[in-house]
Amino acid sequence: MIISRPSRDGDRHVLYITNLHLTNFRNYAEVDLPLERGLNLFVGENAQGKSNLLEAIYLLSTLRSSRASSDSDLVRRDVFDSEFPVARLQTEVQRAAGRLNLEVAVVGRSGESQRAGKRVRVNGLPKRTSDAVGELAAVLFTTLDIEVVAGPPILRRRYLDMMASQVDRGYLRAMQRYQRVLQQRNGLLKRIQARDAAPSELGFWNQELSHAGGIIMKGRADALGLLMPYACEQMGRLSDDVETINLTYKPALGDAVEDHLPIDEAEWTSRMLQALNDGRPREIGAGVTLFGPHRDDVEVLIDGLPAASFASRAQLRTAALSLRFAEAAYLQTCLGDEPVVLLDDVLSELDEQRRRGVLESFEIFQQVIVTTADPDRVRDVLTSATGRFVVTGGAIGRFEGE
Ligand code: ATP
Ligand code: MG
Repeated sequence: MIISRPSRDGDRHVLYITNLHLTNFRNYAEVDLPLERGLNLFVGENAQGKSNLLEAIYLLSTLRSSRASSDSDLVRRDVFDSEFPVARLQTEVQRAAGRLNLEVAVVGRSGESQRAGKRVRVNGLPKRTSDAVGELAAVLFTTLDIEVVAGPPILRRRYLDMMASQVDRGYLRAMQRYQRVLQQRNGLLKRIQARDAAPSELGFWNQELSHAGGIIMKGRADALGLLMPYACEQMGRLSDDVETINLTYKPALGDAVEDHLPIDEAEWTSRMLQALNDGRPREIGAGVTLFGPHRDDVEVLIDGLPAASFASRAQLRTAALSLRFAEAAYLQTCLGDEPVVLLDDVLSELDEQRRRGVLESFEIFQQVIVTTADPDRVRDVLTSATGRFVVTGGAIGRFEGE
């Protein structure tokens, strides 16, 4: 792997969680969990809270849930109808730059004294959520990652967005602005279609949308450029250099797509503006915005063929792992800190050789947190883990099994 190998005792890239405290989060009433540097293994039967635990860590990192859900789903059901339905997540993190204390309160329902939504504190100080994203870098591997490779385009867009917004607040703000402008513009297109508004009104919204869109498209193209070598290298490593992966950005710019992609933001913005101007009759006919980053895709080729139609299950799995590895390498390159690596039940579905390849690749990271429902299938992990825990019905104890 290209990323530099940090010294174990050191210094520059250190990042690991020392403590996690959850109150009324999902099925956890209250849990206070000390974590070790190195490999931490959580064993538990189905539906006991393993994924919920990793979701909590991922939420502290990205301020978004890893599962598509509303904030209210995160609050423990038993307190949801109480006067103050709040889930609290708090973590202590050791970083190169010093200790970090992160707190997130998720208010499940608006009431007289509180509004629904998330409140964040970083080292005790209230922050906007967009300013707290990426303070704790984390990468989550799940068994659903195959969908990023072979599922619908929205999942590949989300993959790039989650990554880019962790390292670049400007990107995150552009995304938020883009969503707002897109809604307004779609409303206007519908009114124009119904002859309630004049097409000339589009001019202002085209400018606004292209400006935010230019930032997003440049961000995605750059992120993909950085990721590619890591993804390729990992794909080779996990398949004994048999398989290759290739990722190509496919911006939704209609006929304005040319052979070469733009380099700078202004060029992306003007290309998008051109797409909106050229496509005006089509968009008025459709009543929605047809061009721009909300319709982008990333083409994934495995051994030169489109992954979704040709790849085998094992190839998809290897590609999915490679994309997450690349994400970890990307975060480290951009942030300086190593991300905490979260593996939700992905090791148990790999054969022994691939599992070894995955674990070896993780040795460079400071902290890896693994869950499994079947400790017998991951004996090698069990023996090398520095922290071993068992999860039962929203409670966490030390794992004493062999
Ligand atoms: P598996 O091995 O099947 O993946 P798991 O240990 O990962 O299981 P989780 O997904 O972490 O299981 O936990 C699921 C449990 O948490 C379910 O029983 C679910 O009903 C419960 N749960 C989810 N959200 C809430 C909530 N808001 N309040 C109470 N319980 C919840
Ligand atoms: Mg699970």
